[in-house]
Amino acid sequence: MADKRDYYEVLGVSKGASDSEIKKAYRVLAKKYHPDTNPGDAEAEKKFKEASEAYAVLSDSEKRSKYDQFGHAAFEGGAGGGAGGFDFSGMDMGDIFGDIFGDFFGGGRSRSSYNGPSKGANIRTSVRITFEEACFGVDKEIELNLKEECENCHGSGAKPGTNPETCHKCGGKGQAVFTQQSLFGMIRNVQTCPDCRGKGKIVKDKCPDCYGSGYITKKKKIQVSIPAGIDDGQCVRIRDKGEPGENGGPRGDLLVEVVVSRHNSFQREDYNIFSTVPISYARAVLGGDIRISTVDGDVIYTVKPGTQTNTKVRLRGKGVPTLRNKQVRGDHYVTLVVQVPTKLNSEQKELLRQFDEALNGPDVNYTDSKEEKSKKKKILKKITEYFD
Ligand SMILES: [Zn+2]
Ligand SMILES: [Zn+2]
Repeated sequence: MADKRDYYEVLGVSKGASDSEIKKAYRVLAKKYHPDTNPGDAEAEKKFKEASEAYAVLSDSEKRSKYDQFGHAAFEGGAGGGAGGFDFSGMDMGDIFGDIFGDFFGGGRSRSSYNGPSKGANIRTSVRITFEEACFGVDKEIELNLKEECENCHGSGAKPGTNPETCHKCGGKGQAVFTQQSLFGMIRNVQTCPDCRGKGKIVKDKCPDCYGSGYITKKKKIQVSIPAGIDDGQCVRIRDKGEPGENGGPRGDLLVEVVVSRHNSFQREDYNIFSTVPISYARAVLGGDIRISTVDGDVIYTVKPGTQTNTKVRLRGKGVPTLRNKQVRGDHYVTLVVQVPTKLNSEQKELLRQFDEALNGPDVNYTDSKEEKSKKKKILKKITEYFD
């Protein structure tokens, strides 16, 4: 990604550019480099894609702030920014284009060839997993409706014994070309043939099994192998499990978004885990062993005498395994919180008073009652005797 240009530089705007400045800059570039106005110009297509990618990020406030923070690393979907995967390869530029230009370029979707093989669309779905499953990876089975080639007509859509006919409207090309006056001047507009929907062929006698579509939707079970270290919002790509391709093109992909359930006591940031562990006042003062839960199970940690509340403890290598190498793990940070007892019986309270007076002297005024005062004097006497 080192040779990738800065998105602001690509659009020629400043880092503080407003949304409308970004939109305006992209409009100018997209008009200049759009494949429909530069047919066959590879350099223009590259520039168009670069600008579209920059616009896709900078026009989305969430993505823009991630980009500002982490740069291109924010969308590498790995350790770098840890900001969640963002995969441009699966993105449909037509969607962004349609978003900004509406239907100006005939739906915005630009395909180099209308009648040739084209890859099927990607399918998106999601799967929910637990915090621990995200840490250590898990295999999940998901059920999905997938279009399969119709066995009766072998995908042609025509009733067995008949053949699809060449479309009269487009002469089998699958596209209709016409020019149109627009804001940007005359535009050569290429549209999918409305009669055959780009297929170039029309089915007269439809296959009774698939009603002419050539596909039958079936419920399919698909195994998803979720890698250790995956974070909430990241996607697992399963090749060739998307929509079927057209005219013999490959199937699209299945993108499974991982939704990680919240954990009762662990929070995650990148590959580190954070939690709070209560310790008793006596343990904080005297020190000793405490039990700390980690994703690997409980560990025994020795608290130093005189530990203050909010002391941070780092358990090295007890964090989440990294996606690139599960042997490399983050750390687990524990905040020790000293508990102030709230429910004490009179005997316990008395002991504490004695303790405090021994520590701070008898000048602390607890109560005004006569009985208490005389009692205090007696204890003081006892403690003084004891310490003498
Ligand atoms: Zn069929
Ligand atoms: Zn046609």
